[in-house]
Amino acid sequence: MIEGERHFGPVWFIPGNRGGKYPYCHSLFLEGPGIIIDPASNFERLREIRNTEEVKAVWLSHWHEDHFTYLELFDDLPLFIAPEDQPPFTDVEVLLDWYGLEGDHRDYWRRAIVETFHYRPRPVAGFLQAGPSLLPGGLGVEIIPTPGHTPGHLAFHFPELGVVFMGDYDLTPFGPWYGDRHSSISQTLESLDKLASMEARVFLTGHERGVFAPPEPEDWQRYRRVIFTREEKLLEFLKTPHSLEDIVRAGIVYGKAREPKAFFEFGERAIMKKHLEALQGRGEVFVNEDGLFERRR
Ligand SMILES: [Zn+2]
Repeated sequence: MIEGERHFGPVWFIPGNRGGKYPYCHSLFLEGPGIIIDPASNFERLREIRNTEEVKAVWLSHWHEDHFTYLELFDDLPLFIAPEDQPPFTDVEVLLDWYGLEGDHRDYWRRAIVETFHYRPRPVAGFLQAGPSLLPGGLGVEIIPTPGHTPGHLAFHFPELGVVFMGDYDLTPFGPWYGDRHSSISQTLESLDKLASMEARVFLTGHERGVFAPPEPEDWQRYRRVIFTREEKLLEFLKTPHSLEDIVRAGIVYGKAREPKAFFEFGERAIMKKHLEALQGRGEVFVNEDGLFERRR
């Protein structure tokens, strides 16, 4: 056991380095079935588990790089993921496409994905399908599709234990990420509703605090409110017409400009684009004759 590690019966919570802040996440180990979930927490602890426990398979809650960094420790074991999130494992260019990365940012990210996150194309042994199942050793799990963050994001519910792992619906102060090409704000909200309505005594997440026993209503509300606050700030900003670049510089998501630009500028643009799409879809924002985004009054 390492500091912060918690065992809920056969479900082990393995805390990530730096409190599970990006580029790390928290992992789970399912003792009995021998399944590692999201191997990007702590290299030494994961290696120790690999050497001392019977690890038989790896599951990923979704395709993001901060959940697969130490997958190399389990290269010889079968990998499972939702079918919707499998394409990025075929080729790094597909992964970069899924983030919608272009130009210099794409080059920065290609290097980071391969060097920092140890990406290599990986065949998938099988797909994780929605619904309840009994794992080897008798542990029951219910696989719960929770799209929005990514199209194939999964939560894992262990009903006999009253434990849910929510992956990147992580209740952090930053709020939800929904900036990928296939992310969705409305699906994020639906998935949060689904998770918040679950009966469990322990809710585990992929980042930061990680263990909620269970979350307070305020924890859920604060997290959801981040989405609406971003939208309100954008609408306020668009009382005067602005280009996408102006919007990115306004720093609604990440605050004032920070380095590396390829990280923060990309994230800012990605999330703002999702809000612009949603607001244009609802007719609240339009592109004026100068090609600038403007709030409809
Ligand atoms: Zn993620």
